[in-house]
Amino acid sequence: MSQRSPSDELNFKGLPVSPGICHGRILVLKTNERTIPKYSLPESGIPKEINRFQQGLVTTRKQILEVQNQVNRALGSEEANIFDAHLLILDDPALIDETLKITRREKVNVEHAYNAIAQKYIETLTSLDTTAFEYLKERASDMKDVVNRVLDNLMGGSEQIDLKTLKEPRIIIAEDLVPSQTAGMDGKKVLGFATDKGSRTSHTAIMARSLAIPALVGLKYRGATLKSEDYVLLDAYNGQLILNPTDQTLFDYGQIVRRHADFKEVVHQASDKPAITLDGTRIMLSANVENPSDKDDVKSVGADGVGLFRTEFLFLQKNSLPSEEEQYLAYHELASALNPAPIIIRTLDVGGDKFLPHLDKAKESNPFLGWRAIRFCLQEIEIFKTQLRAILRASQQGNIKLMYPMISGISELRQANHVLDECKEELRREGREFDEDIEIGVMIEIPSAVMVADSLAREVSFFSIGTNDLVQYTLAVDRMNEKIAHLYEPTHPAMLRLIKLTVDAARRNNIRIGVCGEMAGDFKLVPLLLGLGVDELSATIPQVEGVKYLIRRLKMEEAVNLSEFALKCDSGQEILECSKELVMRVAPDLLKDQM
Ligand code: PEP
Ligand code: MG
Repeated sequence: MSQRSPSDELNFKGLPVSPGICHGRILVLKTNERTIPKYSLPESGIPKEINRFQQGLVTTRKQILEVQNQVNRALGSEEANIFDAHLLILDDPALIDETLKITRREKVNVEHAYNAIAQKYIETLTSLDTTAFEYLKERASDMKDVVNRVLDNLMGGSEQIDLKTLKEPRIIIAEDLVPSQTAGMDGKKVLGFATDKGSRTSHTAIMARSLAIPALVGLKYRGATLKSEDYVLLDAYNGQLILNPTDQTLFDYGQIVRRHADFKEVVHQASDKPAITLDGTRIMLSANVENPSDKDDVKSVGADGVGLFRTEFLFLQKNSLPSEEEQYLAYHELASALNPAPIIIRTLDVGGDKFLPHLDKAKESNPFLGWRAIRFCLQEIEIFKTQLRAILRASQQGNIKLMYPMISGISELRQANHVLDECKEELRREGREFDEDIEIGVMIEIPSAVMVADSLAREVSFFSIGTNDLVQYTLAVDRMNEKIAHLYEPTHPAMLRLIKLTVDAARRNNIRIGVCGEMAGDFKLVPLLLGLGVDELSATIPQVEGVKYLIRRLKMEEAVNLSEFALKCDSGQEILECSKELVMRVAPDLLKDQM
């Protein structure tokens, strides 16, 4: 690399969401806005061009029929009928004739001609502004979908780059990355990423922490300044992206990387020891996973089990729904590798920021308040049953526990258990074995669940507090919105009281209580949770060793004093400062390692 002068260096600020430092060439992912090329053709080139257009339509037709079949299998014919409308749009004679007319008359390429006509139709449909035309407005979104498919096919494939199959290691720069893009991304090829949008508890950020990929959000980059192949250094401890770092900058950061690596080694030394406080309280410390292949890492960081298996990532990595057999193999792989350690498998939590690309789910105006998690499963019974059967079958060979997400009250729990009983009955009839005493738990992540925790506790074996959602639903702060990220406050006094209420209900009913949200892996907040009486913490794999290091330097008495004091505070900032102070006292190096 040639020497760079300090004046070439440019600094962009961002919010660090997954710690680490990396440097390398960048890949700027395009936004969804596409540029349609326009070029002239000789008279002799027109027949070939028209042939290319017809081929594009044939390919698109095949793709739509394929998606329609998949949806038909997964959801039934009513949902699949939507694609009849797509086929009608594709075959619309006016759209096709006018495209051909423009191509012949103006002697231009077909994507330009097709797009010009299609955009006119779309504009007309979207400009209808009375509710009587609601139906036609919806057709505008169908039309956009079809037009995009045709243009993808004419222009040689989608502009989306698949992060699973990157050829060279790159740092990804994008306006936004959604979980369906990051699920299954190759951690060796994606060195790091920085996005304009996103937040610390978005599933993309959680995935980055899980894979130990340094990441920033809220980058406010200007596409004009950063170009693919530019060389950058990404500092996801301090929230900086440095374009054209000088040799001196690279050298300075090299020192920091070495210091972090040395400390990681120190932390790793305690990984085979139990998570026990200095005054003898044993804490169950588990790991959150997204894939059965995480099993070796769960062992190597010395976790006591899996406190949360986010099964939706099995669904996001595929272009179709995973079958019962595929799911069974995945659950079995994890549970049998870690047996007898307990594995908590959470049933499908799609919706919110996790969309199944193959389900073509209608866009919702408030997806986090919408058709998500258990609400989705209780309506999509076949998808739910397929998963429950797979989990039950796997429970035969491992210590599996089952957990429902987003339970808001007792009736959802009972409905879910009713479906589970049906699956058990089916398996018995088929002569298939499963753990008849499989434990059932619920996530406590909606304030209403806290308020009825006693009734829930009477019908489950454990609670796991999902603080990521509990914060967003308690404080009415969208966990994805970087503009209000400063209001997303896990130490808000209301949060502490809700956690305390949940712990008390669990104690009264003699069931276990854990935390599997990101608070459990946030070193600053661990003593606070323990002091509030939580028995189990479950954090992303790279955080487990640090949490253990901290627990082994902490006295339970100090944690309890902290939480008693915090419960009397009326400011989230004050609570955060006191918690940090305690961690700074017992394990100061740890906080330097976290952002
Ligand atoms: C949570 O909400 O805290 C949680 C663990 O679930 P998820 O982040 O997948 O919504
Ligand atoms: Mg949640």
